[in-house]
Amino acid sequence: MVDAFGREINYLRISITDRCNLRCRYCMPETGVKNLGHSTILKLEEFARLVKVGTQVGIRKVRLTGGEPLVRKNINKLIADIAELNEIDDIALTTNGVLYADMAEDLKRAGLNRINFSLDTMNRSKFEYISRRDNLDLVKKAIFKALELDMHPVKINTVLIKGFNDDEIMDFVALSREYPLHIRFIEFMPIGDLLFWDKDKMMTSQQIKEVIETEYQLTPNKNVRGNGPARYYKVVGGKGTVGFISPMSNHFCSECNRLRMTADGKLRGCLYAKQEIDLKAALAEGANDEELKELFLQAIDKKPARHHFDDGWGEENRRKMFQIGG
Ligand code: SAM
Ligand code: SF4
Repeated sequence: MVDAFGREINYLRISITDRCNLRCRYCMPETGVKNLGHSTILKLEEFARLVKVGTQVGIRKVRLTGGEPLVRKNINKLIADIAELNEIDDIALTTNGVLYADMAEDLKRAGLNRINFSLDTMNRSKFEYISRRDNLDLVKKAIFKALELDMHPVKINTVLIKGFNDDEIMDFVALSREYPLHIRFIEFMPIGDLLFWDKDKMMTSQQIKEVIETEYQLTPNKNVRGNGPARYYKVVGGKGTVGFISPMSNHFCSECNRLRMTADGKLRGCLYAKQEIDLKAALAEGANDEELKELFLQAIDKKPARHHFDDGWGEENRRKMFQIGG
């Protein structure tokens, strides 16, 4: 389905839970997080039904995210239900990796094609600082497990925060050279737990690229499979790539192909925009598939031309990243 700005919308990102087993400082406060109750969060069968309806408006790719999607019980069943839909040709997962290694085989068997891990540092005490949990070893194990299972491509999301992990840029590049891993440096956004946000902690993709180019030549690479806005580069001799996601410095909104669904069943056209369409209420009222399809069409129709992070530094967004799904 093509929206009002000529963009083909074919990608649905679903936050299947707002719960998480980490507490990354930029995303969630340590305590006092009020999670959605059982009656508020959508059931897995409801997500599956909505994906099916989504296929009628052109959804072809689905990503499960959160919160931490792997803390949601029976995620394999949801993946298997989505995998059964002929129209869906790609099911991906964004995870912090903590629970992945033990679940990896079942997830793959259910139909998971590929996976993105979030990893901001390879230093144990820094990991414990940023995520408030001592889980680095589990995440490393998870990444190697995904490589072993050939979950191609395996991507790593690294939020670059000046003064925290900018000294590890080259270590991440080295990782992409040694293993077939696609490291994506993400610009720090003013969304999430804004107590940790500070404009001065942000490094633009261009600045990160310039650091890398002091040692390596970067050659643009368009062969990494994905649906997102990352720009990838090959480092000479590298098995993987490095990529840059630049929500702050370079709007990629004109190429945005996605809708987002929150764990409580709200459909959003943009991570940042406040407009939401209430699918949960429609389900509660007994909406049929045709009526739900109409709501998807409304969401596509209302999808804004671009985000406005830079106009308000996030204050106006009621929801946090773990509630929308990054
Ligand atoms: N829990 C899963 C994980 O961490 O991969 C999935 C949800 S998490 C909200 C998705 C992504 O959003 C993660 O890669 C995380 O680093 C990123 N993220 C969260 N807050 C962010 C912020 N303020 N700026 C940039 N990226 C952020
Ligand atoms: Fe949890 Fe992901 Fe947010 Fe970290 S970034 S607190 S892992 S939802």
